[in-house]
Amino acid sequence: MKQSVKYGTAIIEYNLEYSDRKTLGIKVHPDSRVDVIAPTDSTNNKIKEKVKSKAHWILKQQDYFISFRPLTPPRKYISGETHLYLGKQYRLKIKQSKDESVKLIGGDIIIKTTIEKDKERIKKQLSQWYESKAKKHFNEIFDKWISIYPSNKLKNPILELQWMKKRWGSCDQKGKIKLNIDLIKAPKPCIEYVMVHEICHLTYLNHSKDFYKLLDRNYPNWRKVKTRLEHFMA
Ligand SMILES: [Zn+2]
Repeated sequence: MKQSVKYGTAIIEYNLEYSDRKTLGIKVHPDSRVDVIAPTDSTNNKIKEKVKSKAHWILKQQDYFISFRPLTPPRKYISGETHLYLGKQYRLKIKQSKDESVKLIGGDIIIKTTIEKDKERIKKQLSQWYESKAKKHFNEIFDKWISIYPSNKLKNPILELQWMKKRWGSCDQKGKIKLNIDLIKAPKPCIEYVMVHEICHLTYLNHSKDFYKLLDRNYPNWRKVKTRLEHFMA
């Protein structure tokens, strides 16, 4: 039996089944389907209450696929070390210099720095470079895809960039989309996939069937790209 509860702005849809058990069980599947198995004598109101009390956990489970943590080995910020940018490996070249700059030349990321031994400083220079590149590319991708969100809708979508530890992106009810700056290290289609996923959340702030229908229609390839992102950044 299809049922749903409202939790904040999210609607959680679930398949309700009864069984000969004492407590209510909830299962969230990898494709975001939710099964609720209730004791045979429980009332619908009581079930809804129970599901609501678990709503936060359910939404978190459903959001699992872009909430994994990007894993990278500890970086040393020394010449020869490879760093990712738009899906490709680049070799760091650290050069002592009076002026500071970060430039991409051929297969190298050339960092000119005033104190070659100051790894924290180099790390910061590189982060700022990633940030400026992310700003450029993410905004282009946002401009390209935002048209799938009908402009007659109430929300005024904006894009924000942020370093995030636990997720690739987010979208709130006011229409603010956040993308993890770390995504600038991933291939462009992966950035697009996360962007389109978040833009679809402007219409559906949950992982409902309708949400996935919208995502499928606008980015049919997303499952493949998602797997690529997972492998790439793992
Ligand atoms: Zn989502």
